[in-house]
Amino acid sequence: MSVTITIPSALRQFAGGKSQFEVEAGTAGEAVNQLSTQFAELRHHLYDDKNKLRSFVNVYVNDEDIRHQSGAETPVKDGDTLMIVPSIAGGATAEADVAAELPSLSNEEIARYSRHLIMPEVGLEGQKRLKAASVLMIGTGGLGAPLGMYLAAAGVGRLGIIDFDVVESSNLQRQIIHGTKDIGRPKIESARDRLSDINPHIEIETHEARLTSDNALRFFQHYDIIVDGTDNFPTRYLVNDACVLTGKPNVYGSIFRFEGQASVFWAAARNGSGACYRCLYPEPTPPGLVPSCAEGGVLGVLPGIVGAIQANEAIKIILGAEGILVNRLLLFDAWAMKFRELKLRKDPQCPICGDSPTITELIDYEAFCGLSPNQQAEPPQLEEITATELKRRLDSGDDIQIIDVREPHEYEIARIPGTTLIPLGQVVVRMDEIDHSRETVCHCKAGVRSAKAIDALKRAGFPGRLTNLKGGITAWSDEVDASVPKY
Ligand SMILES: [Zn+2]
Repeated sequence: MSVTITIPSALRQFAGGKSQFEVEAGTAGEAVNQLSTQFAELRHHLYDDKNKLRSFVNVYVNDEDIRHQSGAETPVKDGDTLMIVPSIAGGATAEADVAAELPSLSNEEIARYSRHLIMPEVGLEGQKRLKAASVLMIGTGGLGAPLGMYLAAAGVGRLGIIDFDVVESSNLQRQIIHGTKDIGRPKIESARDRLSDINPHIEIETHEARLTSDNALRFFQHYDIIVDGTDNFPTRYLVNDACVLTGKPNVYGSIFRFEGQASVFWAAARNGSGACYRCLYPEPTPPGLVPSCAEGGVLGVLPGIVGAIQANEAIKIILGAEGILVNRLLLFDAWAMKFRELKLRKDPQCPICGDSPTITELIDYEAFCGLSPNQQAEPPQLEEITATELKRRLDSGDDIQIIDVREPHEYEIARIPGTTLIPLGQVVVRMDEIDHSRETVCHCKAGVRSAKAIDALKRAGFPGRLTNLKGGITAWSDEVDASVPKY
């Protein structure tokens, strides 16, 4: 049977850069196995040491998760599409709550919301519901920017925003709620100014805080809907669990490069049959296996599209609309301009929303995601060198070869003189190009990918001495040569 496997962009660098593969296989397991035997690095990402498919790697045949079919034994037939969907660093109506006493609209508000009021799907009652509603936005970054602006413009009566970041120039490529004049300001202040300019009729509550297990339930209780615009796994699980425990819908969005995901995780919806984020991804991705947007980049317009989808779903939940993204995972590829949709199901074994939950209060999410220092599975046995020390040793004539494991387009932006470029995805296959009799320093942008490259080389049996440049080319620019641009 000839089956097409779609590779997500986060894993393409380990699959020769390809987005699709044709394989001959009778089952889903055979198909993934065939693909990964061709690419050793990809195999390491998909399978654990016992040759079992890693639990955070979800495989879909057409639009169905194989976990809800026969797992790896799920049969495939000619023309089927198999998708590998890794987690990426995202019903009932509110009728009962708001029907009792809806606020009235002033003439000014009636004029402002005219295009809503003349739609039967919204109408006067719907607009009053929007005014009576409250939404808490976690983060005012790429997703939070369009999200907040559309929710404010739509007349959602009370908007809460949580953020602790400060606006930086590299945010402005996509975080359109902030402007050049805001560089250096707290994001919540800049967001509040923009939102109240869009709509002075709404209430904006700013919380300059990091969302934690200690404050999440307290914050969530004061809002009808939670919208997750964060970019890291601990916060995603925290938002999910706090939403399940408080019964609130979690309007989810996530982005990476040019791919996005959106869904509404709402365990209480549809008589308790709604899936939560843990039903989809029971276990977090180990640190480092999936790059973040800071490492992998993101097309500026992508969070605009995904954030607008989240705003759309939040508004529909408030209006009690049919067709919200409950039990549906929307996948968007901005480069191919394709939307796909996968079915989600509540997992009866889910530790928080299943039949016998084992998680009944918020936990330590940094530890759960393997990010606490004492929880790291294997502390990397990594030899490191600082940029200053490397420069000193090169100047004193030490024989050191430097391997740059970034991508060619990054090499175009900035480079350390005298380095050899071998991108991370190729280091193992091009290992022969590295002279193992010489001392080797690997570097990337900030030191994370080069550590992975060293790990991959060691696992592949590279016999020479490998040292990681701490802080990568960014540290080189800071410590040694300021003329090397930082990006
Ligand atoms: Zn669940």
